[in-house]
Amino acid sequence: METIELNNGVEMPLLGFGTYQIDDHDECERSVSEALQTGYRLIDTAAAYGNEAAVGEAIENSGVPREEVFVTTKLWIDDAGYESTKEAFERSRERLGLDYVDLFLIHQPFGDVHGTWRAMEDLYDDGAIRAIGVSNFHPDRLVDLVAHNDVVPAVDQIETHPFYQRTEDAEFLAEYDVQHQSWGPFAEGQNDIFEHDVLTEIGDRYDKSAAQVVLRWLVQREVVAIPKSVHADRIHENFDIFDFELTADEMDTIATLDEGESLFFDHRDPEMVERLCGMERET
Ligand code: NAP
Repeated sequence: METIELNNGVEMPLLGFGTYQIDDHDECERSVSEALQTGYRLIDTAAAYGNEAAVGEAIENSGVPREEVFVTTKLWIDDAGYESTKEAFERSRERLGLDYVDLFLIHQPFGDVHGTWRAMEDLYDDGAIRAIGVSNFHPDRLVDLVAHNDVVPAVDQIETHPFYQRTEDAEFLAEYDVQHQSWGPFAEGQNDIFEHDVLTEIGDRYDKSAAQVVLRWLVQREVVAIPKSVHADRIHENFDIFDFELTADEMDTIATLDEGESLFFDHRDPEMVERLCGMERET
C-alpha cells in the first residue's frame, strides 16, 4: 500500500476504508474484515458512527498485526472541551480495544475546539495517539487553531469528490503542511457518479469503473481517500486502483466537473451549525 508522510513523520496509507452509516454491528465487522483481507490498512471510524466496537473486533480477529493498521476515530461536538475530550477519547479507545489510536480528529469545527485541541496535544504527547487532526475545517478555522496552539493538525478530512474538488483548500493545506483527506469520495452516489459519462469514458480506456477513476484521481492528487462499501465486490474494486495512471489531460478533464460547492451542506451555513449543535428553532 502506498503511503504518505504526515507533518510529524507518521506514514498514512493513501487509500483507506470508510465506515459511516454501517450501523449494524455484524455488517460493520464483516465489511471491515473484508477490507482488511483485501489489503486496506487504514480504517476510518468515529464515535458518532456508533461502530467503533465492531471496527475493533474486526481488527482484532483479522490476524493483521496491529502496527500495520492505521486506525482513525473522531471526537463528536458534544464531547468538546479539555476534560470531556480526554474522557471521550478513553471511551473510544476502550470500544476499539486498542492501546493507541493512529489518528484522532475533531469531527466538526464547533464547540470548544481549543480546549479539545489542548487535550489532544496532551494525549499525543503521552503516546496515546500517533497523530492529531481535524475534519470539516475550512481554512479560516484551521488558521485560528494553528494560531493559538502548539501542534499543527496532521490532517484535515473534508468533503472532496469530482463535483467539489477543493482545489483552493488543497493549496492552503499544502502551505500549512496539513494532509488533505477526502470524505465522500463518491459524493455518496449523488449526480449518478457511478454511471457518469466523463468518468466511465475515461475508465473504459483502462478497463476500470467510474468509481476506480475517482479514487485514482484523488490519490494522484495526493488526497487520501476512504471509500465506504458493504459489498465485497465493491470493496475489492475500490482497492484495485494502483495499476493504472491518469494522464494530465484526463486529470484536466475531471477538473471541469467541479461545481465548487458542497453537495451535502456548508459548515459555514448558520442553519446547519444550529442543527449540528442541537439548537432548536421556534419557527
Ligand atoms: P462514499 O464513500 O462517497 O459513498 C459510499 C456509497 O457508495 C455507498 O452507498 C456505497 O454503497 C456506494 N459504493 C461504494 N463503492 C461503490 C462502487 N464501487 N460502485 C457502486 N457503488 C459504490 O460516502 P461516505 O461513506 O459518506 O464517505 C466515505 C467515508 O468518509 C465514510 O464512510 C466515513 O468514514 C468518512 N466520512 C467522514 C465525514 C466527516 O464529517 N468527517 C463525513 C462523511 C463521511 P454500498 O455500501 O451499498 O456498496
